[in-house]
Amino acid sequence: MIIEQILFGMAFAGGIYYFVKGIQRVIRNIQLGKKTTYPGPASARWKNMLLVAFGQKKMFKRPVPALLHLAVYLGFIIINLEMLEIIIDGLFGTHRVFASVLPTALYNLLIGSFEVLAFLVIVACVAFLIRRYVIKLSRFNKPEMAGWPTKDATLILIFEIALMSFFLTMNAADVELQRRGVGHYMQAGAFPVSSLIAPLWSGVSDVVLIITERACWWLHIIGVLIFMNYLIISKHFHVIIAFPNTYYAKLSPQAMLSSPDYVTNEVKAILDPSSASGEQYSGRFGVKDITDLTRKQLMDAYSCTECGRCTDACPANQTGKKLSPRKIMMDVRDRMEEVGRNIDQHGPSFTDNKTLLHQYITEEELWACTTCQACVEECPVNIDPLAIIVDLRRNLVLEDSKMPGELVGMNTNIENNGAPWQFSPADRFNWANGLNIPTMAEKAASGETVDVLFWVGCSGAFDDRYKSVTRSFAQILQQANISFAVLGLEETCTGDPAKRSGNEFLAQMQAMTNIQTLNQYGIQRIVTACPHCFNTIKNEYPALGGTYEVMHHSTFLAKLIEEGKLKINENNPLQGQAITYHDSCYIGRGNGVYEAPRTVIEAFKADLREMKKCRTKGMCCGAGGAQVFKEEEPGTSRVNITRTEQALNTGAGVIAAACPFCIIMMEDGVKQKNKDSDVKVKDLAELIAEANGLKV
Ligand code: SF4
Ligand code: SF4
Repeated sequence: MIIEQILFGMAFAGGIYYFVKGIQRVIRNIQLGKKTTYPGPASARWKNMLLVAFGQKKMFKRPVPALLHLAVYLGFIIINLEMLEIIIDGLFGTHRVFASVLPTALYNLLIGSFEVLAFLVIVACVAFLIRRYVIKLSRFNKPEMAGWPTKDATLILIFEIALMSFFLTMNAADVELQRRGVGHYMQAGAFPVSSLIAPLWSGVSDVVLIITERACWWLHIIGVLIFMNYLIISKHFHVIIAFPNTYYAKLSPQAMLSSPDYVTNEVKAILDPSSASGEQYSGRFGVKDITDLTRKQLMDAYSCTECGRCTDACPANQTGKKLSPRKIMMDVRDRMEEVGRNIDQHGPSFTDNKTLLHQYITEEELWACTTCQACVEECPVNIDPLAIIVDLRRNLVLEDSKMPGELVGMNTNIENNGAPWQFSPADRFNWANGLNIPTMAEKAASGETVDVLFWVGCSGAFDDRYKSVTRSFAQILQQANISFAVLGLEETCTGDPAKRSGNEFLAQMQAMTNIQTLNQYGIQRIVTACPHCFNTIKNEYPALGGTYEVMHHSTFLAKLIEEGKLKINENNPLQGQAITYHDSCYIGRGNGVYEAPRTVIEAFKADLREMKKCRTKGMCCGAGGAQVFKEEEPGTSRVNITRTEQALNTGAGVIAAACPFCIIMMEDGVKQKNKDSDVKVKDLAELIAEANGLKV
């Protein structure tokens, strides 16, 4: 017995030693990243961790796999609880030591629930294997899953089945030994699962039973020690690191991008040379290699479960582009491990002349992203692949001046004309001809104030098709007696397309110019029909000195309707018409605005038909992330065509939208499908104008 105890002690110490070494290696690798701050209250972070990591909140969007995953997850926890007893028994030669310490009922309850969970783990793992190898779910068969990632996932499932089988077999032998009163196998525990298989031992001798019980005990404990160390080199490590990862996850709206200080300082110095510190920033612009990423972004890579929910929801991937957000995270992890190995083998100053950008992630992948945030929304452990994509774009643009030709033109237009197209800034206010729209300059000159500023946006001001939305909305404001004004010729691009295309300098330059104008008029409330302007001003301007109450026009209109300030004609032409609503990523997933547009449509007493992919699961129109200004990357189909097909499948005659880019993309899709004579794409404001008989 003493030899068994010594062997166990050695195995246990060895397992713990290598586990600690492995954890130290992971921490060292994460520390290769940059330190960062984590804005927001700790209470919100704890809540996030409890709900997302512990409560598996995001998993429960799909209940069946969520329940199976819950069984495996609880199985992991019970292994740890049950391990405590096994370790004490192993070290001190006792048997079921807790049976003599805990009240019998409690001990029976614990062992009984361990058994049920162990059985459920086996069921769940078998179901997961069937999902991979029989049903062959497409997300498990993407190119990045070839080779090791698939073997890793399979190995984990087999390991768990084996561990639970050893546990149940050990208990089954124990039950029979207890029944026979052999040696120190005293009566202890309730065995709802293993007692069902115990009768199989009836003809087996005591010696064989003891050998079986001991062998399974050893296989189980050694298996756990090996599995514990295997975790660290496998995707299964998420069971541990998901907790800190969700704690440190971003609390701000999903569509909000960071505004790096090194750019802010330089832009401030350009706009106001007296504020310049004289120090030149000499660090990296954007991200080229993993050492440029933040520690949280590196922790994201270790937290990735390779489940592929992000890739499954990615519009670029769905339409055959090379981009896969899961691959982005796997690449970050692989490169981080490679840099870590280089340091171990050759010292910290070694360079292998490789970088994450180019050697792992190609430009084609990066330029396929529509910044729709579907990957961020779907990720069960709050990973943000989009932030990494934008950081890599920033490096391409700011250090290497590399971006698709059309985006060079778009950025030049913003720089020269204050709009992404080649329109004259002098024409910016032409949309208002004949409407008697006041400007802030006029109001200020007459000493008047307004309740709200209507931010028109570049599409609203220049795009011939979209001007009708601007005119409709302005007339609705007039009809509802809202005190408002516009900036007119003083408005300029918010910087959204520049920022999303990686040109952070131009984006911040635009932002600070606009903030100066807005602050000079003491603006407090802003309403805009453009979700991109809305997101940029609401979420990204505060870090640069511009904090306002910003509303998207859908929210504003819904509120006017609910408060009775805007009446919709009882017998309007939209009554009973089939209308489907396409969620814009930048108000929907990006900022949680899902109900307001639907409230507006319901006010027409229309037949609102939801697409299968709506609200959080809504598919991007393909325009975001500056895609609308460039050709799509090569793929099997176009994003807007796929989304239009989903809209057409509802049979609705009107596709309602609430974004200038969505309108362009969906209208193009409807034309491509030769449905433009039957199906119309309309903004919410246009629909209200139609319902109320406004002449636009
Ligand atoms: S933001 Fe959208 S397009 Fe970009 S990687 Fe994520 S899911 Fe794909
Ligand atoms: S990033 Fe998140 S959603 Fe994507 S594979 Fe990893 S864990 Fe799954």
